[in-house]
Amino acid sequence: MQKPEAERVSGGCACGAVRYETTRQWEFSFKCHCRKCQRATGTGHAPAFAVPMSETNIEGTVRYHAHIADNGAKTKTGFCPECGSPLLSSTERFPERIYLLAGTLDDPSLFEPQFEVFESEAQPWDRTQTAADNPA
Ligand SMILES: [Zn+2]
Ligand SMILES: [Zn+2]
Repeated sequence: MQKPEAERVSGGCACGAVRYETTRQWEFSFKCHCRKCQRATGTGHAPAFAVPMSETNIEGTVRYHAHIADNGAKTKTGFCPECGSPLLSSTERFPERIYLLAGTLDDPSLFEPQFEVFESEAQPWDRTQTAADNPA
């Protein structure tokens, strides 16, 4: 049975060659500040959410780059071979799960990170701003 629209989210790469849709019931969401994510995204951190592979449909060709993560796990990051947009990653430790990058969502405002990891590698220009940073 098809689930109601509100329980699904969709997204894709910059050129539209890769499109996905998946459950809105994310397992968790986070921001990763590790150097691999910084390099893979070209930004200060990767904002991502975890969903079961079984709940996710991907259309188009995703190319994968395999590497060893800082915690020693075999990891692969998926990107669009047409436009180069990073889209997702997965690790051998949790083969049934993928981590989708929040910026690829059609509605990125749905993303609410629950926690941050590798904060010790966070860049000073990319720290989460607190109320103290913005005295009113
Ligand atoms: Zn693309
Ligand atoms: Zn990372």
